[in-house]
Parts: sequence; structure tokens; C-alpha cells
Amino acid sequence: MRNRRAALAAMASAACLALSLSACGQNSEGGSKEKSGDVKGATIGIAMPTKSSERWISDGNNVVKDLQAKGYKTKLVFGEDDPDTQVSQIENLITQGVKGLIIAAIDNKSLNNVLQEAKDANIPVISYDRLILGTKNVDYYASFDNEKVGRLQASYIVDKLGLKEGKGPFNIELFAGSNDDNNTKYFFNGAMSVLKPYLDSKKLVVRSGQTQLNQVTTLRWDGATAQRRMDDILTSAYKSAKVDAVLSPYDGISIGVLSALKSDGYGSGSKPLPVITGQDAELASVKSIIAGQQTQTVYKDLRKLAQVASTMVDDMLKGKKPEVNDTKSYDNGAKVVPSYLLQPVSVDKSNYEEVLVKGGYYTDAQLKG
Ligand code: BGC
Repeated sequence: MRNRRAALAAMASAACLALSLSACGQNSEGGSKEKSGDVKGATIGIAMPTKSSERWISDGNNVVKDLQAKGYKTKLVFGEDDPDTQVSQIENLITQGVKGLIIAAIDNKSLNNVLQEAKDANIPVISYDRLILGTKNVDYYASFDNEKVGRLQASYIVDKLGLKEGKGPFNIELFAGSNDDNNTKYFFNGAMSVLKPYLDSKKLVVRSGQTQLNQVTTLRWDGATAQRRMDDILTSAYKSAKVDAVLSPYDGISIGVLSALKSDGYGSGSKPLPVITGQDAELASVKSIIAGQQTQTVYKDLRKLAQVASTMVDDMLKGKKPEVNDTKSYDNGAKVVPSYLLQPVSVDKSNYEEVLVKGGYYTDAQLKG
């Protein structure tokens, strides 16, 4: 019996030599025992920041779908907007043996130690939409042209108010995203590059006086925080004046700002709602645009972003160089991270059908339901 078992083992190992190494590894343990360059069935870890915004849920699902179509297994986690939670989630993914990581950071500076662990385990890291700062251990960055997002929002305000035709002065208030998200300053600077001439000429007036980035950020992009700030601004600076425009960087913030405005009587009678921008084309905000409340949003096709990120990780694991289209703009303080940047699109009531419905992002039923 003993001899027979030994003989079988010897035969099996001889067969293993003839087969690929990974096939033997998988047969013996049923799990992933990939050698580098042989990645079929490997698990990729995906760390998303929060479920509190619809976009990140779609991002997570899209990336999972794309990676599975490429033959990978996936582990998807959401950090509930808490940086420490995200760090320990990524640590767990590394311990569980993931072969690649796709990360949308909560706090872009909190990941240095855990990414050193990833590096030590030879795990490629893709920074997803939000650039991770201060570490060399980020291989690629997949995102959108973030400055353009801000320019689209601000240009929309300029056009809608007729500033180029010399109309004004108008009152505007400015909102920015979370100060621990690298995108925040890109959105804000992009927007300010368009608004500045009108602020300088006083055709746009910020009655609150809050014009510096550090005065207008919104921690974790929280709508309720933005609502409180708008409430305070309305009370302190608009007793005898009316807001004509609000630069909002994100749909969730726009919803908070709109609540504050409506509680103050905007949207009825002699107080029309101001022009109010947004970002992400989230369902509630597109419905709000159709209903004539929020005015604009910036649509970013998350399906394309997921494809870019999952192709990057797949290429890296197969020893191929991922395609990039920007090798200059995104310096994370430790290196310039090679990037692939997609194009954002401005959406309002006039083109949502064309862009979002014909583009297959939403169905008519979703938007009208
Ligand atoms: C993303 C935006 C999003 C924001 C809030 C940013 O990093 O680029 O699309 O609106 O986070 O979730």
C-alpha cells in the first residue's frame, strides 16, 4: 500500500513537470498558487472608499465584473469613509494573498505603510480615481482629467449667467471637496482658473468672503456638512441679497446645498434657485436636474474607468506595460505616477438624454421613475 502511494505520488510529480506549474499548484490545493507571469484565477483586491455615494458602489461592481471577465477572482471592500478601516482592510487583503490591488483612497496620505507591505509582497498597486500621495509604491493611476471637471463646472456657470455677454454682477458661493482627497485641489483650481477674471472684475461676488480652498472644503464630501455651511452663509451674508450661483464639486454636496437653499425659501416666488453645479451624474441628481433644481453635473463614465484600471492590473501581472496617456501631471510627492486620464462631460437638462440615456448609462425608466 505504502509503495503504491509512493508510486502514485511519483507519477503525479512527473506529470506535474510536463504540465504548467500553476496547474499543479491549483490541483493540490484548489486555490491560487500562481507563479509570477501565470495569473489565471488569481485574486485581485479592490478597496473602495464608501457605500454612501452611489458612484463608488458602481465602481466596485464594474471593476469586479471586468476582472472576472479576465479570469480573476475578486475581493471587494468598502472603507465606510474611515481611513483606519481602509488601511486594515488593505492589510487583510494582502494577508489573504491577493495578487494585485486597485485602491480608491479615503485619505490619500494614510496608505504609505500598508503600501510598503504590498510592495514587499510584490503586489502591483493601481491608484483608482484618487491619487495616493507620498509613496513610490503606486504603480499606475487611472482617473479623469480632474482639472477639466472644475473647468466644466465653472464654464457652465459663466455661460448660464451670461458673464461673457457682460451681464452681472452676480453673487456666487464656492464649495470644494474633502481636503484629504488629491482631486479636490484639481477640481477647485480648474474652476477658479475660469472664474478668476470675473471675481477680479467683481462681476462675480462672493459675499461670504470665503474664496480660499482651505475655507471652502467639505470633509469626506459630506452633503450634511455642506448643508450646514450653506445655512450659515445664507444667515450671515444673504439677509438682503440673493445667491445667483453655487460652485459645487459633487452631486452629494449639491443636494445638501439645495436643501439649505430650499429651507431659506429659494425655489419659489421671487427667489429662484441659483445655478448649481455637481459631479458624478448620480441618479438623484440627474432626477433633480430634470426637475429643474440642480442645474448641471459632470458625467464621468465609470464603466470606462473600471476597464482602464482592470486592464492595468492585468497587464502588470502578465508582464505587459499598461497603456498610459499622461506621464507629467500627477506627481504624488514621491514620483510622477504614470496615468491614464479619461474625459469628463458636462450634463444638464438639454443633453442628459443624449449622453446618459443614449449612452446606456441610465434607462429612461430609471430617470423618470
Ligand atoms: C471623485 C469624484 C467624487 C468625489 C466624492 C472624488 O475623488 O473623483 O468623482 O465626486 O470623490 O466621492
